[in-house]
Amino acid sequence: MPLHKLDLKENALDSFNEALVKYREGQAGNIKAYKFAILHFSHFLELLFKLYVSQAHPLLIYKNPFSKNIAKEQTIGLWEAVQFLKNEGKPLDGKFIVDLEWLKTLRNGIEHHKFEMEIASARRTLGRLVQAMNEFSAEFADFKMEDWITEPNLEIFQLLADEYKADVTHAQDEARERAGDGEVYDCGLCGERNTAVCVLGNYICHYCEDEDKLIICCICGAEGKRSEAIMWNDDVSPTDYACVSCVVRIENMN
Ligand SMILES: [Zn+2]
Ligand SMILES: [Zn+2]
Repeated sequence: MPLHKLDLKENALDSFNEALVKYREGQAGNIKAYKFAILHFSHFLELLFKLYVSQAHPLLIYKNPFSKNIAKEQTIGLWEAVQFLKNEGKPLDGKFIVDLEWLKTLRNGIEHHKFEMEIASARRTLGRLVQAMNEFSAEFADFKMEDWITEPNLEIFQLLADEYKADVTHAQDEARERAGDGEVYDCGLCGERNTAVCVLGNYICHYCEDEDKLIICCICGAEGKRSEAIMWNDDVSPTDYACVSCVVRIENMN
């Protein structure tokens, strides 16, 4: 029986690493690869939850652990594993369940060739699942998630497992995709790097979701970014901004 547990762990590990490989391919511009990231990740989570259950007893991964022919017994599914953990006093966070349901639905859709996937939200959900799973494992599993990750995948795993870093990475991916062949910019408002795109002179940030608007200096008429200008008069609408060189020049006059 310990052999079976090892198989489960190795299979789970393979699927997770394969999912991360596909995720990186998606990030590199091969959008289709995200579909395979979803499939591998979904398989990984099924195995992982069975592995959690097997920590209580290896035979509990079978629907009928009392069977006379255990090798032919069906194994439990994801939701049975989730329920088992709950009964064991290890409930999953509600948001974790919602994301798991999303993943299962999308996986079924992919298998039946009927699915639509919004890449940006798929990436963000996968990121949240990695974080939730990593936290759950840290608390309840008898292994360390990080030890499972192959060297080339370690960086993306650490990025996804960290909520803040994952959010910045998602924003950078979204900005890069939106810019296409164009450039991406640092955001002058939140200060994140390569998270903004320029649309008609306005810098739109995918991290803080704010817009660094194109302003015209009310003194010299030069164009500039709101984040680099100085508010001159906010009693008028729209607010008057002045460029730094005008402000410096005027201050030196006094
Ligand atoms: Zn920003
Ligand atoms: Zn000016």
